[in-house]
Amino acid sequence: MDSPVTTAFNVAEIRKQFPVLHQQVNGRNLVYFDNAATSQKPLSVIQTLSDYYSGYNANIHRGIHTLAERATKAYEETRQSVKAFINAASTEEIIFVRGVTEAINLVASSYGRKFLKAGDEIIISALEHHSNIVPWQLLCEEKQATLRVIPVLENGELDLDAYRKLLSGKTKLVAINHASNSLGTINPIKEIIDLAHQTGAVVLIDGAQAGAHLPIDVQQLGCDFYCLSSHKMYGPTGTGVLYGKKELLSTMPPYQGGGEMIKDVTFAKTTYNNLPYKFEAGTPNIADTIAFKSAIDFINETGKENIAAHESALLNYATKKAGALPGVKIIGTAQNKVSVLSFVIDGLHPFDIGQMLDARGIAVRTGHHCTQPLMDRFGIEGTVRASFAVYNTKEEIDQLAEGLSRIISFMK
Ligand code: PMP
Repeated sequence: MDSPVTTAFNVAEIRKQFPVLHQQVNGRNLVYFDNAATSQKPLSVIQTLSDYYSGYNANIHRGIHTLAERATKAYEETRQSVKAFINAASTEEIIFVRGVTEAINLVASSYGRKFLKAGDEIIISALEHHSNIVPWQLLCEEKQATLRVIPVLENGELDLDAYRKLLSGKTKLVAINHASNSLGTINPIKEIIDLAHQTGAVVLIDGAQAGAHLPIDVQQLGCDFYCLSSHKMYGPTGTGVLYGKKELLSTMPPYQGGGEMIKDVTFAKTTYNNLPYKFEAGTPNIADTIAFKSAIDFINETGKENIAAHESALLNYATKKAGALPGVKIIGTAQNKVSVLSFVIDGLHPFDIGQMLDARGIAVRTGHHCTQPLMDRFGIEGTVRASFAVYNTKEEIDQLAEGLSRIISFMK
């Protein structure tokens, strides 16, 4: 029997806020299931961008004229919003970056270069996105440190017993995602953080797939760093957040040099600005960061719990529907998942499935999803990934299932 998809909000009303959804692609109503790559943007976000450029575009922080003050105020309001959204202790702990990739590179370059030495170890997991693998590989190469990897179990959950064994006095840093973009697995990050802290390691959480779906309380978690990308949270591309504990950020050298990150510059010596500006060199992404606040407001107003309940009902429904089709194998069956459905179909290449679904107006992602080692672990080249957001519906999943069913019968 079909599971009901009931929600505490009106999906039709939510959909009205997303203009991009109301179009035809290849002669059919667009079904957008590529939300783990980037989510669509509500009118409020688009309006904020337009208001900024048409009303108060100005460079921030040093201007004393009215537009500069307005822009600075709006930019700093986003920092307040992010602080509240993740329950950070202070706005000094909120650094604006381009997104999760830059946040991780900042920590690897600044914290990693200063505090890691030969023989130290960094632990990541087999579930990581390349953005949470390659910066650590670069650091290990430079420092003669060693990268250790927590294996993943057949259902897509991390092998926590193996993690406990990997931890030692040599472990200096643990970097793990909150949720996997490829399989949807929600990792038990509180437990992972607490275990790492027992050995004195610092912990970075890649929150790319959590920002729009899961509650985040950095003080309750006790993580040392937490990274977010606005564009996966109904906000603009090109902006995001590195949260860091103030006591750690204070000890770290700047990541880039230039405007805004300095207090005083002479040719003999430069002194650095206070947190968080020490890490925000150059003109930042002002417009998109200001509009990021509208995205956070959208999530808060809709209610993260409501969003999670809706998406989880969609995931359950889609898992049942897709799982019942001949030859479909779902990759990633962890107990706790965000709304990501990854699968392969016997005898069909994911890329071909993606193209045939696109011909039916259905946007999914196919391939390795920037997690090649994870695909190797499962002995596959890639998967088809349908990922759901607040504006998706049960009817759209029916369309996906019908499309897949046709593709399967057509190809056999
Ligand atoms: N980590 C995870 C788990 C992701 O899903 C992504 C984006 N696909 C990233 C990191 C990188 O995020 P961004 O491209 O926004 O820097």
